[in-house]
Amino acid sequence: MRYYDKLIFELSHPGRTGFSLPASFDASARTNLCSPKKRLAVASSVSDAVPTKLLRESALDLPEVSEVDVVRHYTNLSQMNFGVDTGFYPLGSCTMKYNPKINEEIASHPLFSGLHPLQPAATVKGAQAVIDGLDAALAAITGMKHFTFLPCAGAHGELTGLMLMREYHMARNDAARTKVIVPDSAHGTNPASAAVCGLQIVEVKSGADGLVDVESLKPLLGPDIAGIMMTNPNTLGLFERQIGEIAKLVHDCGGLLYYDGANMNPLLGKVRPGDMGFDIMHLNLHKTFSTPHGGGGPGSGPVGVGERVLPYLREPRTSGFHGNFGVMLRAYAYILMLGKQNVKMAGPLATLSANYIKESLKDCYKLPIPSICKHEFVFDGLINDGACEGKAGATTLDVAKRLLDYGFHAPTIYFPLLFHQALMIEPTETESLETLDEFIAVMKKIAAEAAEDPDILHRAPHNAPIGRPDETAAARNPILKA
Ligand SMILES: *Cc1c(COP(=O)(O)O)cnc(C)c1O
Repeated sequence: MRYYDKLIFELSHPGRTGFSLPASFDASARTNLCSPKKRLAVASSVSDAVPTKLLRESALDLPEVSEVDVVRHYTNLSQMNFGVDTGFYPLGSCTMKYNPKINEEIASHPLFSGLHPLQPAATVKGAQAVIDGLDAALAAITGMKHFTFLPCAGAHGELTGLMLMREYHMARNDAARTKVIVPDSAHGTNPASAAVCGLQIVEVKSGADGLVDVESLKPLLGPDIAGIMMTNPNTLGLFERQIGEIAKLVHDCGGLLYYDGANMNPLLGKVRPGDMGFDIMHLNLHKTFSTPHGGGGPGSGPVGVGERVLPYLREPRTSGFHGNFGVMLRAYAYILMLGKQNVKMAGPLATLSANYIKESLKDCYKLPIPSICKHEFVFDGLINDGACEGKAGATTLDVAKRLLDYGFHAPTIYFPLLFHQALMIEPTETESLETLDEFIAVMKKIAAEAAEDPDILHRAPHNAPIGRPDETAAARNPILKA
């Protein structure tokens, strides 16, 4: 263990402090604010303002360390992390792409960040113009009429969109429409949002080609169907070529089409959900339109509607304090900076990158659906996993862990559920050919290692800060304090 891997509590020394306050501060508190006794004394001096039942009875056990220890602690923690700014992050269905830093600068400009949400409308016309401009740009890109910026994430957008779908039917006295059709390849949030909205989920199967099977869809349609939720290209990265017919069938039965546009980059400027027949959709500004995401940071999942649903879009169209305005600013700056011409390059580049990796690796990894993909594709584990008598073969989890040793983030694994060893790769449009080539070389190397001795992979990662945590326990029973 390196000495700075010690927990900050282990570096604690009674009386050591990491700050010095100006002389005007209460001298007795200043001398040693880190001592538990002093902190209690200071706390009781403000106790008049704080209700007694909220006051601590004993001082919080904080580490007593110097400033340099604190700085090293947090800096070292930050370096144990992996982000799209530290390396390639081919996480299928999540679009972890590079976000230009100029958009961060614009979002943090004091003329925007200094606005107060309760300022009179007449004094925030510039911000309103950004929201209106973004609405118009997104409408042009998607073929929807208008967007609401109320939802703060993709799943939030799905719920909002489904509530609009329900309202559309209720307004027509069509209360029997309580079911929503969701393909078996759908993102998990789709059926979850439908359930939260009080709708029953009817699953439609994919065919062997990975596309929604129109013949399986037909018998599901009827007077109890509120609509269908789809994404196109679908979660396998395949374009639903029969979307025109699907739209006609669903509309003819009285239902609506909901489009999950979280990952819009393959279509950007090329194809519009509105033109495919979708009535309601959401976008993830924090995936497709330049906001770093992951870790639950601020997002924005605006919902767009076409002609049919437009009357049900309510005011106000931004949530409390104008929504996550910084995310909207980044998205608008991103769209304007690319412009009409360059926005069209995102989709083809994302598609080219995905197909390049797929074709380069299909001799080492099982490719269940060999057709041309869009922005992402799915392998089903290794072709030669190295299994031999007495030795288990290398799994998708092993490949993912071994990638960490070589400095790449793992792709999405074990999703979609259609394949047992799913390995879902989305390189995005922002990576250079050199990066893609390096990734391909490492994936080939890992395949060769597996064939030779799968134990190398079973024990991976070998040089990450931690080995293999129990991910379920880590999520369900996190230990948040030492
Ligand atoms: C990420 C994603 C979502 C959910 O978006 P959140 O902002 O995480 O709620 C929904 N659908 C698809 C296809 C996604 O990739």
